[in-house]
Amino acid sequence: MLMFFRQVQQHSDNFSYIIADDATKESAVVDSSFNAGEITRILRAENLKLKYIINTHGHSDHTAGNAELRSIFGARIVAYKLSRINSDVKVDDGDVIRVGSIPVKVIHTPGHTRDSLCLLVNNQKLLTGDTLFVGECGRTDLPGGNSKDLYHSLFHKLLKLSDDVEVYPGHDYGSRPYSTMGEEKRSNYTLEPRSLAEFIEFMSQP
Ligand SMILES: [Zn+2]
Repeated sequence: MLMFFRQVQQHSDNFSYIIADDATKESAVVDSSFNAGEITRILRAENLKLKYIINTHGHSDHTAGNAELRSIFGARIVAYKLSRINSDVKVDDGDVIRVGSIPVKVIHTPGHTRDSLCLLVNNQKLLTGDTLFVGECGRTDLPGGNSKDLYHSLFHKLLKLSDDVEVYPGHDYGSRPYSTMGEEKRSNYTLEPRSLAEFIEFMSQP
């Protein structure tokens, strides 16, 4: 299967993503963010049909373009089942969303927020939202943040993925715009081996 995949740089370091099945032209946007106009331009230039707008979590810098994209394309908004996002499709851990023939597996990764998701696209590309960045992890000091939850999400879910899975974060905070799980396991200081208590202490430091 041929997959179209585009990382779109947004304002304030946000990334949006466009995933599409090149055969059927069915597509999904992950995190509409602020620049729905640029996403719309790409979707039209590539002749893509937008089926889903998937949100990694409810912070407005990730969801700001939802309503505009939904009204232009008639796409359905997808979010975690307990999210406050005004969604059409509510998903849970382990669900698989189909974009044409491309499987997008939902991994519930609370910690940055309670509704945080990571999305494993075609068992190959992990869209990590604000859970994991290149060289960093998400903050837990905002409302709904929880360091214990983030520990389980990072160490018991994401670190179980194979080293060749590519990492595509929700913000351009690192030395490069994307990475791999293997590279993050080797070099990301937030993923160094720690007990739960050590991780909570680590996250509480300014
Ligand atoms: Zn966030």
